[in-house]
Amino acid sequence: DQRIAKISSAIRVIPDFPKPGIMFQDITTLLLEPKAFKDTIDLFVERYKDKNISVVAGIEARGFIFGPPIALSIGAKFVPMRKPKKLPGEVISEEYSLEYGTDKMEMHVGAVQSGERALIIDDLIATGGTLCAAIRLLERVGVEVVECACVIELPELKGRDRLGDKPLFVLVSAV
Ligand code: 5GP
Repeated sequence: DQRIAKISSAIRVIPDFPKPGIMFQDITTLLLEPKAFKDTIDLFVERYKDKNISVVAGIEARGFIFGPPIALSIGAKFVPMRKPKKLPGEVISEEYSLEYGTDKMEMHVGAVQSGERALIIDDLIATGGTLCAAIRLLERVGVEVVECACVIELPELKGRDRLGDKPLFVLVSAV
């Protein structure tokens, strides 16, 4: 797909951010190119439009950029998976380890119903810890996680293996 090469080249790599040795994949430069940004959304919409998905769960913060346009296009609701103490209502939460540090993820109770079919969206999978926490949160309340989708995968970190049987769809593999 011609579109993938354009998306890949629109992502900027910043060495030593947020700390030495990390090659940070910066998607903000992708957002500056309307055609490449739209192609990114379209590629996900093409894949998920006929899959009976009623929930797009977006992971803070960059899953909030890609998730909502996908949700609107496929006729699904958008559910934010947030950092601790951000959501005002009653929440359920999951702890997880990051590429750098540990964190917690929260979701509003009542945002999703048992039996719903969800797609989880984030910008990037590194170790897979973040996506695993999101899967656990949704599955705890009886939601079927159909697939996880990211713009970028860092294959060296083998996050895909950590997801086990859960399908992962990515547009760009960063080496
Ligand atoms: P994981 O839990 O898979 O190790 O880390 C993935 C999470 O960390 C995602 O939420 C992602 O936004 C963030 N992350 C880790 N490394 C990078 C990076 O190089 N670029 C971007 N944009 N996000 C990253």
